[in-house]
Amino acid sequence: MSPEEFRCAAHASVDWIADYLSHPERYPVLPKMEPGQLVDALPASGPEHGEPMERLLDDFKRLIVPGMTLWNHPGFLAYFANTAPGPGIIAELLCAALNGNAMLWRTSPAATELEQVALDWLRQWMGLPAGLFGIIYDTASTSSMHAIAAAREMADPEARTLGASRGLTLYCSEEAHSSIEKGAMAIGIGQQNVRKIPSDAEFRMRPDALAAAVEADIAAGLRPFCVVATVGTTSTTSMDPVPAIADIAEHRGLWLHVDAAYAGPAAILPEFRHILDGAERADSLVVNPHKWFFTPVDLSAFYTRRPDILRRAFSLVPEYLRTAQDGRAVNYMDYGVPLGRRFRALKLWFVMRYFGREKLAEMIRRHIAAAQELAAAVDADPRFERTAPAPFSVVCFRYKGTDDENRRILGQVNAGGEFFLSHTVLRGKYTLRLAIGNMGTTREHVMRAWEALQRAAPS
Ligand code: PLP
Repeated sequence: MSPEEFRCAAHASVDWIADYLSHPERYPVLPKMEPGQLVDALPASGPEHGEPMERLLDDFKRLIVPGMTLWNHPGFLAYFANTAPGPGIIAELLCAALNGNAMLWRTSPAATELEQVALDWLRQWMGLPAGLFGIIYDTASTSSMHAIAAAREMADPEARTLGASRGLTLYCSEEAHSSIEKGAMAIGIGQQNVRKIPSDAEFRMRPDALAAAVEADIAAGLRPFCVVATVGTTSTTSMDPVPAIADIAEHRGLWLHVDAAYAGPAAILPEFRHILDGAERADSLVVNPHKWFFTPVDLSAFYTRRPDILRRAFSLVPEYLRTAQDGRAVNYMDYGVPLGRRFRALKLWFVMRYFGREKLAEMIRRHIAAAQELAAAVDADPRFERTAPAPFSVVCFRYKGTDDENRRILGQVNAGGEFFLSHTVLRGKYTLRLAIGNMGTTREHVMRAWEALQRAAPS
């Protein structure tokens, strides 16, 4: 591609992006697409000869966009809604041009050091202690798997040489994200050694039940090694009592990992800083800027006060990757499974600098306020009931009818194209779940979605 051809096609692409960002609601948030539809619409094998960029861009608009669920859309109210704002998109474009690979300091010095700087800024904004080591992974699932591997390294230092020994047990609440169990599966802990601790009436891990499970396992000759506390659980955004869990972890020498993937960014609001109380005692913590911190997917920020142990678990340097350097240089490949690492820090740094802490805090505050308004509206409608407290920007509620009636309400609203909500099951009951996290989502969107749900409900 000649520089001129690049300039022309890139300008056309940026024009499309700017148009999209100015009117995302021209598009339905959920595509009307059947499984296999795109596969059938595309040629069965790749072209022998190259095609002009115009044709590629036309097909992007004609075939790909209508088949996308639009996460970057103000009507996206499902799962944990998120945002790819202008500065984040521009950073992704610039990163692609540099094609940096921050496996070693030498292979991308500025990417490595920007990762250190951006993560340290975020750490300060969240009020976490100085001296934490930060590293970016793709997702919280990867971050938590690395936490569990570091925990195993602490408890069972022979594991990297001999393979994991049996009897290591891990603890999380029954409301913890599936990535915790998956991380334990991936490193050979075994699902049968993951204890799902019961939660209280507000979906928070019960420390008394945790302590009892740990003691019972020790009495049975097992080796408790790790506990995961969640700040902002996936279904209801409940917060486990981190200080009480930290007491138990310290008493029995367990690695404490805090999963604040969704809710962590709320700690940049002074009035919400308390949500990370106790996290200063954690061995590791994950927060996902690609969830509620307006940073494009993918970017998960992992912090640990034990980088020595993480490094012991993962460092393996063959001759062809050996570099001479001074003590300040960090080789991020030593702290995890991936060797090749995308230059993700640039988008976080662009987002933090473009908006600044105050504006980011204001957007999070606005989302929380919209969720509180919705929670009050649900409480005021006798046909509906809330199924969990709403401490952040997610509201869980249901029509006071059957699970099937609730499924139908959700299906009807999602079919409208304006909004996309998802569901969960709480205490055995199907629950509607409205999650606010897109920068473009206003209180008006939320109230319109609520009205659509009310209209869809049997009267
Ligand atoms: N932890 C929590 C609390 C989550 O809610 C999620 C996803 O929603 C994850 C971890 C996994 O996030 P990721 O998609 O970045 O792996």
